[in-house]
Amino acid sequence: MLLCGFYLITKTTNDQQMNAIIITIGDEILMGQTLDTNSQYAAQRLTEIGVELVEMLSIPDKGKEIADTVEYAMGKSNLVIVTGGLGPTKDDITKKVLADYFNTPLVFNHEAMEWLEELLQNRHMAMNENNKSQAYLPRDCRILRNFKGTASGMWFERGDKILISMPGVPFEMEHLVDSYVIPDLKCQYPSLQFEYRMLKVYDLPESQLAHHLEAWENTMSDGLSLAYLPSPGLVKLRITAKGEAVNRLDASYESLKEVLTGLKYMEGEDSLESQIGEILRKNGVTIATAESCTGGEISRLITSISGCSDYFKGSVVAYANEVKVNALGVQLVDIERDGAVSESVVLQMAEGVRKQINTDYAVATSGVAGPNGGTEEKPIGTVWIGVATPTRTFAKKFVFSFTRERNIAKAASKALEMLIEGVLTERNN
Ligand code: AMP
Ligand code: MG
Repeated sequence: MLLCGFYLITKTTNDQQMNAIIITIGDEILMGQTLDTNSQYAAQRLTEIGVELVEMLSIPDKGKEIADTVEYAMGKSNLVIVTGGLGPTKDDITKKVLADYFNTPLVFNHEAMEWLEELLQNRHMAMNENNKSQAYLPRDCRILRNFKGTASGMWFERGDKILISMPGVPFEMEHLVDSYVIPDLKCQYPSLQFEYRMLKVYDLPESQLAHHLEAWENTMSDGLSLAYLPSPGLVKLRITAKGEAVNRLDASYESLKEVLTGLKYMEGEDSLESQIGEILRKNGVTIATAESCTGGEISRLITSISGCSDYFKGSVVAYANEVKVNALGVQLVDIERDGAVSESVVLQMAEGVRKQINTDYAVATSGVAGPNGGTEEKPIGTVWIGVATPTRTFAKKFVFSFTRERNIAKAASKALEMLIEGVLTERNN
């Protein structure tokens, strides 16, 4: 028996079949004024503990609509998450509709009134009638104290079904999800188990990867599943295990890695930029970038990681040939002979920026991002990437040929990969 919130309950769901529907309430969502981020947040957190989301519904602040949707959701799933419509104004009617649905009166709640007073006092605000109305809450439900706002959350139970209502303001809802919904569901339903392993496969389109893994996927046992999550330049693979299959997750993950032997992959779910950060910090080395076609995208990725000043020194966005020559020391004759998008030029860019900025490593890009500027010899999507290390330089040519945005994203992610390759091979020598 476990102590869960205010309850002493341990429940087992039917073969871990805990499924949920999220209902977001608010005219502003349907009018396109507010993006429904609450569903995404709640769904991510619930998925992490093994709850299966079966539907997400957005509905207006209308009594009948709310009542009908709640009725439908309670019939179909065993967990219903409701957000929105708990504000102090007239248009917020969720609380009243839920009290009617669960056949319980709204009563003055002294504790909630004290919470309100404390919150308003901390914010140096006076209590008004609208605020006071928020202390009227359904009698037969568990009230979830909201430390970040005036609307309390409500946890209703009917039979083995749960409905949790939370305010629409995202940071208030997130606070209630993190403080009560997730910990208390985990506590009430210890049988909810969910774990996953993630790795990233580079340089292979999703369809070819799927073909490569087809036979292996067919051998996956019950409770295990594989998801493909493609993004520019890589496909993330996630093996998920539910319930007792959690015990088989590691073995399945190991066998997946065996099937991937010979392909380029990296374990874990960290982004390339955070992985490279770790590698550089661990080795105590620094980097710089010289970017033509990526226009600073590699630097943006690197600087999105906090603490990158430990290893990232700076960048030269060398778009014009003049900058390649004057700032990086690229030989004009080479540009004239080979063109700016060439092996000789990216090698000199990488060497040049490494010298100018005085770092251990450097990476450089030069390419035709498109949609204009392609030639037969150098079609749109042609990108040369060069890396300079303390002992050598090397370059590779890619032809991505997607849209400009994707070309830039792919080139930047390839550049990071090549940088990792440069650092790791240097260290192994
Ligand atoms: P409410 O609880 O309905 O008073 O919601 C207050 C505010 O939260 C709204 O004005 C919206 O700006 C925001 N909000 C409501 N629902 C959502 C949602 N599903 N996703 C993101 N923001 C929301
Ligand atoms: Mg609202």
